[in-house]
Amino acid sequence: MVKKEFKAESKRLLEMMVNSIYSQKEIFLRELISNSSDAIDKMYYKALTDDSISFEKENYYIKVSADKENRILSITDTGIGMTKEDLENNLGIIAKSGSLAFKKENEAKDGHDIIGQFGVGFYSAFMVADKVTVVSKAVGSNEAYKWESEGAEGYTIEPVEKDSVGTEITLTIKENTEEETFDEYLEEYRLRGIIKKYSDFIRYPIKMDVTTS
Ligand code: ADP
Ligand code: MG
Repeated sequence: MVKKEFKAESKRLLEMMVNSIYSQKEIFLRELISNSSDAIDKMYYKALTDDSISFEKENYYIKVSADKENRILSITDTGIGMTKEDLENNLGIIAKSGSLAFKKENEAKDGHDIIGQFGVGFYSAFMVADKVTVVSKAVGSNEAYKWESEGAEGYTIEPVEKDSVGTEITLTIKENTEEETFDEYLEEYRLRGIIKKYSDFIRYPIKMDVTTS
């Protein structure tokens, strides 16, 4: 008999993830920063074998910016970037990559942090955001693209202008509800706390920029 694979129904999976599995919403920032760090690593390795790319450490960093008034949180990196196809393939299919596999480097120290052991990935952004926008320009490409999604209903991709190679992820942070608060993800002290807790080991500088009005 032939054993068939279950089809991962992306929409349902996304809804489940956003609504139930992750009690620790704060880990979205760890996931986005770790993706940025991976993207800079890729740039670094590419520079080793490609003479046309120079890797100067000071040009490689991750920036976290919050704009409270407009409820915008963005994570910008100077990593390898994504082509249109990358955006389609990497962000269009939920749980395609190693996202849900255990990640050894993040193994829990106290055994309680089960969730913390999973790399839950890019989609964790939807735990705190109504809308996620990714603007990216891949190394060696003259074109930049914008990927945008409000969650389970799907996404759009369109060409945009972007000068430098790298990726900017913009989250439109959800409004507070009676049960849950989201304002905290626009507060500098809170963001600093999350970064300290989960991203202390990141090799690249994490810059911070918060505007209140
Ligand atoms: P994982 O990191 O486990 O592969 P994610 O869901 O976190 O899964 O990310 C999916 C993919 O999207 C990554 O593997 C990478 O190819 C791409 N990606 C996500 N964020 C970035 C980024 N900031 N720069 C470049 N590529 C990215
Ligand atoms: Mg990841």
